Amino acid sequence: AELDTLDVVVLVAILVGTVAYLTKGKLWAVAKDPYAASFPGANGVKSGKTRNIIEAMEESGKNCIIFYGSQTGTAEDYAARLAKEGKSRFGLETMVADLEDYDFDNLDQIPSDKVVFFVLATYGEGEPTDNAVEFYEFITSESPSFSQDNDPPLANLNYVTFGLGNNTYEHYNAMVRNVDKSLQRLGAHRIGEAGEGDDGAGTMEEDFLAWKDPMWAALAAKMGLEEREGVYEPIFGIVEREGLTRDSPEVYLGEPNKSHLDGTPKGPFNAHNPYIAPIAKSYELFKVKDRNCLHMDIDVSASNLTYQTGDHIAVWPTNAGEEVDRFLDLFDLTDKRHNVISVKALEPTAKVPFPTPTTYDAIVRYHMEICAPVSRQFVASLAPFAPTEEAKAELTKLGNDKDYFHAKVTTHYLNIARLLSTVAKGKKWSNVPFSLLIEGITKLQPRYYSISSSSLEQPKIISITAVVEAQALPGREDPFRGVSTNYLLALKEKQNGDPNPTPFGLSYEITGPRNKYDGCHVPVHVRHSNFKLPSNPTKPVIMIGPGTGVAPFRGFVRERRKMAENGQEVGKTLLFFGCRKSTEDFLYEEEWKEAKEVLGDKFELVTAFSREGPKKVYVQHRLKERAKEINELLEQKAYFYVCGDAANMAREVNAVLAQIIASERGIPEAKAEEIVKQMRSSNQYQEDVW
Ligand code: FAD
Repeated sequence: AELDTLDVVVLVAILVGTVAYLTKGKLWAVAKDPYAASFPGANGVKSGKTRNIIEAMEESGKNCIIFYGSQTGTAEDYAARLAKEGKSRFGLETMVADLEDYDFDNLDQIPSDKVVFFVLATYGEGEPTDNAVEFYEFITSESPSFSQDNDPPLANLNYVTFGLGNNTYEHYNAMVRNVDKSLQRLGAHRIGEAGEGDDGAGTMEEDFLAWKDPMWAALAAKMGLEEREGVYEPIFGIVEREGLTRDSPEVYLGEPNKSHLDGTPKGPFNAHNPYIAPIAKSYELFKVKDRNCLHMDIDVSASNLTYQTGDHIAVWPTNAGEEVDRFLDLFDLTDKRHNVISVKALEPTAKVPFPTPTTYDAIVRYHMEICAPVSRQFVASLAPFAPTEEAKAELTKLGNDKDYFHAKVTTHYLNIARLLSTVAKGKKWSNVPFSLLIEGITKLQPRYYSISSSSLEQPKIISITAVVEAQALPGREDPFRGVSTNYLLALKEKQNGDPNPTPFGLSYEITGPRNKYDGCHVPVHVRHSNFKLPSNPTKPVIMIGPGTGVAPFRGFVRERRKMAENGQEVGKTLLFFGCRKSTEDFLYEEEWKEAKEVLGDKFELVTAFSREGPKKVYVQHRLKERAKEINELLEQKAYFYVCGDAANMAREVNAVLAQIIASERGIPEAKAEEIVKQMRSSNQYQEDVW
């Protein structure tokens, strides 16, 4: 009996030792505290962490902070990728940090053997992203007040910077440019170039990849770092929770946070906490079979959500079931899809991007952008886990060769599962660590829509006007389909009587986690914008909104119509709308007639139907035809608005407006362009483009 006891003791000791060795002790934290995911709680409140970046660095032994200013998640993603690469290639002790989470007055105390990265997206008209507003105001102020009296204040600070912008906007990459300028002025030392990625040219990813290698070389030289063979180390630990099933009340099945899990979602509703809104009404706007455009009225009356005409609403989509299945199958997770797992950050500064415990199915369906364009760097990082040597070689090639990647992947709209399935000729990718998927795939982003209703007329019903994304592809049976708009299309079909809608063969978990969205609900939040009618309703307005670009102008026109009905005087309201054919995609044709009845001469709709005449006619042509009147209205201080396609239309309208001003006022075009610029900076010219 004594021997038996000893055997057991020895065995247990060996077992404990082995587990500790294999996991480097990291899983212990998970076993002790299984629910301690670092996901922000309800309402996005983060638990009592320090706002002192020096403390945060010291506590966790870091020497490289990667701050991000992110609106749609790309900058955050790039920050995470830089952190990972810095660690695996150069042994840097990196941490990713949300600019919103820290104070900046002690940036002057960061010693010169450390480095700070700033990955900064520019939003809208050269504005900082929501989470970077305070940092931006601080760092670009005349004389930011730092904790010490160094001269220059940031003489010790070494930094690296990359900006994410869109060259179709006036203030291209304004954030990174201005921050870089301010940091230089304050005496900080930049390492490498101030990188700039251009979403407008569609080269963001490639710009980033081209920038980072010389930057790493410069950083390695400056900090005396030695490059090593990159070894993959997971950032997240995955623990199967044997005692839980998907029916256990504490398991997240797609609920965005604790209050949703508890069944009592509470406001404020925002980018961390959606409102599950009933859809009041929805219908098709196009009169053709092969294209769809949705009108949807979303009822926020049971919430404290408010909006103003011209704001944006964000829709939180879920992935199509077929794409979820494809993804789970490819990574050999189908059998485990409903197993309950806890995900824990193994790095103290990493954040688990969704609440846990949860299931593989819920993560992939509700939290991962599995259909988006694939990152070349991510593809390269998967190569060591390829199921065959051939697939490994192909992935390595795709990772290294930009043009090859473009030809094979980008132009075919492949998503990660479709790509990997092709590369490995249908073989499953069973060896890919799930942590790598969480690290490499962006979190599913809400999609923004310009609100197409007037808050004066209907303060608690928010309208959306959305064209359904579909792209036929040569050599593929099923066209590419957008995530959010096809989900909305399914919701519309459900609302109009189909209990199990499968638009274009796509099905959705339309009733949401635990059927919480049943009765036709959609998760949303509102984002306030600066795109606003003049406060004086008698001012004339000129609005250019072809296609779904007309969305906010439906709101504007309805607002003025309501004002007129209330007996208020309104100014000239001139709308330019364009589409293919008056019989196919003429949005809100009837409503414009009704508006005309109320507003009379104050309202005029100018149409451009591109496919009706012998020559293609666009809104900018119509604008030019009205040069004299446009100029007169501008002289009466008319506000000028453009909404819709950023890449082509908005640019051309800008150019045409300058031409009109030049010819009508008899001034050189350069001078006219200057006037348009001034109109923009004084908000007389406003854009809402995407
Ligand atoms: P997604 O799946 O996001 O795809 C969008 C595009 O990304 C595709 O068309 C394709 O070009 C590319 N893409 C996606 N995946 C791949 C891939 N694997 N490979 C290659 N390319 C890929 N839209 C409206 O219809 N009405 C509005 O009023 C409106 N207002 C907006 C206001 C703002 C401020 C912004 C930022 C956007 C607005 N949009 C509006 C656009 C809207 O947010 C969505 O981008 C749009 O509806 C498409 O979403 P989706 O999820 O269906 O498509």
